[in-house]
Amino acid sequence: MSDQLTFTNPVTRFPDISPPKQDQPEPGLDAELIPGTDRGEKSYRGTGRLEGRRALITGADSGIGAAVAIAFAREGADVALNYLPQEEEDAQHIAGVIREAGRTAVLLPGDLTDADFCRRLVEDAVEGLGGLDALVNNAGRQIAVESLEEIDDQQWEDTYAVNIHAMFRITQAALKHLPAGSTIVNSTSIQAYQPSPTLVDYASTKAAINNFTKGLAQQLAPRGIRVNAVAPGPIWTPLQVSDGQPKEALPEFGKSTPLGRAGQPTELAPAYVFLTSSESSYVLGETLAVTGGSPTP
Ligand code: NAD
Ligand code: MG
Repeated sequence: MSDQLTFTNPVTRFPDISPPKQDQPEPGLDAELIPGTDRGEKSYRGTGRLEGRRALITGADSGIGAAVAIAFAREGADVALNYLPQEEEDAQHIAGVIREAGRTAVLLPGDLTDADFCRRLVEDAVEGLGGLDALVNNAGRQIAVESLEEIDDQQWEDTYAVNIHAMFRITQAALKHLPAGSTIVNSTSIQAYQPSPTLVDYASTKAAINNFTKGLAQQLAPRGIRVNAVAPGPIWTPLQVSDGQPKEALPEFGKSTPLGRAGQPTELAPAYVFLTSSESSYVLGETLAVTGGSPTP
């Protein structure tokens, strides 16, 4: 069985998929995505890089967050997973993979648009894990809308609530628990640099996440807490079929990248592992692009 360390051609490591038009209510489920995604269940090999670490990951039930949760567990970390209650099926699957790796999975469903929940989430993660030294702010809301006039206040505010306000509240609540050596990794996007015309609310949150990451990294550096970000390109996840993309765009999803294909969630995991592990001790305020070759500044 090949794993993420096997010498391979990145063009053909995963199939060039052409997803059929499909629709799921927000938030989508990995369990119903066609074709299914690779989150590393069968392929990610841990090498002890996060031994004994205690991580809280938001949006950990599916897509990129699920792949990061699996990788963290196989690298030796215990993981608290946050997701929406409607995503219990996906979350239970990932929790099972974490437990098979011999690590603890703490399930903490709840809505990140609720400010009180964001703060309670951190306390519950600390209690469930017996401490906290890694935070991955990965949950995100992306709804494609054709024109600015069609973005109502609720849509605008919900996108900012999940992508920005929750990141602020969770990070702030986590700080009193994070010892020196801890890490924070935020999920931003290539959309921070190349905004799609249909994603003005979403893309602008991702630019803000980059900026927040670089400012906070400097503030927390003297405390020995490192803050970084990962900027994925087009990755095949449930986000894309729950109105994240216009339906007609799905069959061509990811094909315009230099590699010519969409990325799979497990291809993101090593970037999060690197930025969380002490091997990246001199890397702060960095946004690591995982875009299939689409250029970023
Ligand atoms: P995904 O749908 O699998 O994950 C997003 C998760 O966000 C959901 O599983 C859900 O648990 C969580 N979420 C959304 N609203 C929430 C709320 N109100 N309360 C609690 N949780 C909520 O999709 P993904 O593509 O893996 O997305 C993960 C991150 O990666 C997001 O921040 C997204 O913006 C970013 N990203 C994705 C892509 C891509 O092409 N898939 C590209 C760039 C960036
Ligand atoms: Mg999900």
